[in-house]
Amino acid sequence: MKNQIHPELVSLHALRSFDNSTGEWGDALDPHFSKFPCECCGSHLGGDRFDCEALGLVKRGGRQTLHKLGEFAVCPDCLVKWQ
Ligand SMILES: [Zn+2]
Repeated sequence: MKNQIHPELVSLHALRSFDNSTGEWGDALDPHFSKFPCECCGSHLGGDRFDCEALGLVKRGGRQTLHKLGEFAVCPDCLVKWQ
């Protein structure tokens, strides 16, 4: 499937976010508003974003293995699509 994170993206997993105002860890599925494009589909519509850890297949030493690709802010559609 097409995405802007990685050609061999496998899945996205929502991360718990730390709330500085309460000093507590928030719910993983607690979105935040952003006017920046979704880092997965590139949607330019402002809206909810979820902080996710992305996993993808990376070729190392001739073998493809699952690696953490990093953290990305994605829209709700992408989170559902890449679960
Ligand atoms: Zn998206």
